[in-house]
Amino acid sequence: MLFNTGITIPSYMMHTRQIAVSKATKIKSEAKNGQRPSIVPAKKELAHALELATILHTTLDVEKLIELFSTEVQKSVPHDCIHFQNKDLDLQILHGDKGQHSCSYRLLIAGQNLGEISFSTNKAEFSAKETKQLEHLITSLLHPLRNALMYYQALITALKDPLTGVNNRTSFDATLKREVDIANRHSSPLALMVIDIDHFKEINDTHGHLVGDCVLRDVANCAAKCIRSTDIMFRYGGEEFVVLLSNTSPEGAQLLAERIRLSIGKQECTYGKSTVKVTVSLGIAKLNKDESGISLFSRADEAMYQAKQLGRNRTCTSE
Ligand code: GH3
Ligand code: MG
Ligand code: MG
Repeated sequence: MLFNTGITIPSYMMHTRQIAVSKATKIKSEAKNGQRPSIVPAKKELAHALELATILHTTLDVEKLIELFSTEVQKSVPHDCIHFQNKDLDLQILHGDKGQHSCSYRLLIAGQNLGEISFSTNKAEFSAKETKQLEHLITSLLHPLRNALMYYQALITALKDPLTGVNNRTSFDATLKREVDIANRHSSPLALMVIDIDHFKEINDTHGHLVGDCVLRDVANCAAKCIRSTDIMFRYGGEEFVVLLSNTSPEGAQLLAERIRLSIGKQECTYGKSTVKVTVSLGIAKLNKDESGISLFSRADEAMYQAKQLGRNRTCTSE
């Protein structure tokens, strides 16, 4: 659909609009898919929308985009807080402190749900003129937002292992450096754990690679369930996983390693006619003062090999 200045309004969308007039009262209005907003923009508004779209197209960073959008919206609709969330991508962006009066829009573009955006204020509730203005400005956000979300998803995919869903080696290299820098700067404890499945080659040889793949997924899931939300797990390669434990003492890392080892050892993996039980060997190292990430990893890896040599299905700690 084309307005007279040539701005294409996406084949619509429009939004479940919720206007909270106060904390207690909510007015909810819905416009069905395919409807256009009942706004006839003036020339000045369209010129502003075009200018806004140009500004918003300057970034693919979702967080920066929402911040830019908020700054631009401030000029015509003052607000204390902007909140964007996309539940599918587990993405939340919040600028400012949530206010008493809010106004939310579900953002749809050609049937694709982009998420929900809310503005809130502690001053007087948004006027009808302001909500119309918001609706109008949001139309300029949709295409840049869709592009930014696609970019965000591509970045996430590039950092995940497709088989197990945990972070991959690329992510590990970047995260290790960052966590070591933080730990060294703040003198906070950092531990690294290497987990290697015992005799995994035999599982592939006996049951086939598809069963081997399922075992890898189950081991990753089981370990992921044992760790805290601040711990970060990676598939380092093959049947080897790494867990970075920030603010964790060697004793804490040892307890966690044993919890992971016992949980994995307990689980039975059944695939078709095959039932497989696996054990893991673990190595732990604690970051020494001014030590590099590579050195930390290599000490944990050596400890894991020591566990293999001592008979597997055990945890060893680097001195
Ligand atoms: P150890 O107890 O000494 O660790 O013995 P292992 O058999 O686990 O170790 P080894 O390094 O000999 O074998 C690892 C095997 O992991 C060989 C490789 O084919 C298999 N592997 C690596 N990546 C994958 C994968 O993505 N899927 C499957 N099914 N197997 C994999
Ligand atoms: Mg192995
Ligand atoms: Mg290995």
